[in-house]
Amino acid sequence: MLNLFFPVVCEACNSVLSDNQKVVCTLCRHQLPVTNYHFNNSEAVKKIVYGRVQLENATALLHFSKKGIVQQLLHNLKYRGHEQISTFLGEWLGTELNNNDAYQAIDIVIPVPLYKTKLRKRGYNQVEKFGKEIANALNAEYNDRVLVKTKSTKTQVFKGRLKRWNDDGALFSITENESLIGKHILLVDDIITTGATVEACALVLLKIDNIKLSLATMAIAD
Ligand SMILES: [Zn+2]
Repeated sequence: MLNLFFPVVCEACNSVLSDNQKVVCTLCRHQLPVTNYHFNNSEAVKKIVYGRVQLENATALLHFSKKGIVQQLLHNLKYRGHEQISTFLGEWLGTELNNNDAYQAIDIVIPVPLYKTKLRKRGYNQVEKFGKEIANALNAEYNDRVLVKTKSTKTQVFKGRLKRWNDDGALFSITENESLIGKHILLVDDIITTGATVEACALVLLKIDNIKLSLATMAIAD
């Protein structure tokens, strides 16, 4: 009855979902531009940060294009509170990575954190559910306490210091390193574009002894 007045719609195309469809309709599910990077051992994501960050493995689930259905999904996730999209993408990628030898050695999944004021404003980190589902699938720990964002990116941009993030090395920091020594970390984020965020996180994480770093994102802008 409730469905009649508030129909559940596809997060990508807004068509009404039937009872057996969740988050996105079957048509969109098949139209989503999957990268298949982790099936093809593609280096496409690693290439973005070549010479800047040493990554063991890196993948993205979807190709991002402006005005496409992936943009619609990420918009609904980030700005409209539809966290079920994060769960949906995490379950999907988690299942695929669990069937991939390269990702079996992951110990800890860490989400790229939001700055505290942004987290308060949005109410959630949009990659939390994504990361938790992947950690669950890989039998790894999920840890969103150890890596923190120490400055607002907005403030940095405002001050025209965008290029200096990495020189400063102060955009992110870790609260402790004991629990990460010798571990293989999978960093998760929503979208990789220039790799600046990954680089800034890696800058602090790769200082820890014997650490290995891999990356998984919902999408890649290419
Ligand atoms: Zn749809």
